[in-house]
Amino acid sequence: MKKYVGIDFGGTFIKGGVVDEAGNILVLDSVPTGANEGVAAVIGRIERLIEKLSVGEKIDGIGLGIPGLIDDENGEVVISGNIGWERVNIVSELKKKFKCPIRITNDANAAALGESEFGSGKKYSSSVFITIGTGIGSGIIIDNKIFSGNKGAGAELGHMIIRPNGQPCTCGSFGCYETYASATALVRETKKAIEENPDTLMRAVPIEEVDGKTAFDYADRGDDVAKRVLDEYIENLAVGITNVANILRPQAIILGGGISKQGERLLEPLRKYLKAHIFAKGLGPSVELVCSSLKNAGVCGAAALNMR
Ligand code: BGC
Repeated sequence: MKKYVGIDFGGTFIKGGVVDEAGNILVLDSVPTGANEGVAAVIGRIERLIEKLSVGEKIDGIGLGIPGLIDDENGEVVISGNIGWERVNIVSELKKKFKCPIRITNDANAAALGESEFGSGKKYSSSVFITIGTGIGSGIIIDNKIFSGNKGAGAELGHMIIRPNGQPCTCGSFGCYETYASATALVRETKKAIEENPDTLMRAVPIEEVDGKTAFDYADRGDDVAKRVLDEYIENLAVGITNVANILRPQAIILGGGISKQGERLLEPLRKYLKAHIFAKGLGPSVELVCSSLKNAGVCGAAALNMR
């Protein structure tokens, strides 16, 4: 069986694995990203990670998933705010060292492909993967292939505007989906509600320890303030999901990232909203809403970039 290296490039860690054609991760390792040390240092770390992963293995291809605007045709990171890179042709750099095929894509596109090939998306030929973390990443799969738009610049659902002149986004715009539906947005609104409501039970949590779970935990305990924060958050998340469903009508939308660990607790109200607001309601084909099933979708999907 052929073997491929998949690299999942995150703001804090770069994860890498050797993956076989069936999606099994044979070796997994990671290194700190250390983006502040500059491009050359990061590329050097990636090279050493690839070398370490592939000791004694014949590698048939290397794939990388990187956050930001990734030109997948030319192998260039056009801009990645998350790691502070602009116009870095990482593929030509890595080609100086490694002789096998090398491909890159956006990090969420890679995870979408991983889920589509080996995870929750396996039984669908069209799916959209949405990862809810610091920001919102997304990947669109049509006919089992990544659709990334012209020069890889599309499929950025996190930056669809859901509130004109709304919250400022790291991309420079305002009111982007990720400023209302990311884990960062949920933490921001939870903290704000704690500060404004002296009687909320969430006061028991030190403000710096508030995370994406706090509102879920306290809503379950019956706290009205937590319930309100959560209802508003889920409605924002649901609006974006419904828009995506109406634009693409994929067979499935797959949720990933920390917040998706809430499972049915999250899916149930989202499905309710989607069912009530999707175009043509029950007359059209349903859009299944599920959670991701792979622990390392990004690594598997990056490896899969060279599989066909
Ligand atoms: C970036 C995307 C990325 C996502 C997840 C967003 O802020 O714009 O390119 O996929 O974060 O890392």
